[in-house]
Amino acid sequence: MAAHECTRCGACCVAPDISSLGKALGVRCPNLTEENLCRVYDDRPAVCRSYGADQLCEDIAAPTLEERVEKYLKVFGLGVERGAAKAT
Ligand code: SF4
Ligand code: SF4
Repeated sequence: MAAHECTRCGACCVAPDISSLGKALGVRCPNLTEENLCRVYDDRPAVCRSYGADQLCEDIAAPTLEERVEKYLKVFGLGVERGAAKAT
């Protein structure tokens, strides 16, 4: 069975909220480089360690990161108002 490969599309480091990082929904993780690599890869939180490429990566494929993030959030029934994401 062919394994899913991470294409470094960036969506999983932008779309989900990650409480251990204080990261809100739809906000780019500050540890994500412009090349969509993790700057703290060796020290990334457990939630990031346990995340791997799967079918979802194919399902949310789209030309732009913004579209991929929107699709990712839609899959999980989550939404973020554009420009409205902020810490409360
Ligand atoms: S959503 Fe999938 S392909 Fe995109 S960066 Fe994350 S693991 Fe890689
Ligand atoms: S810590 Fe690294 S792997 Fe985790 S969301 Fe941020 S950039 Fe992605």
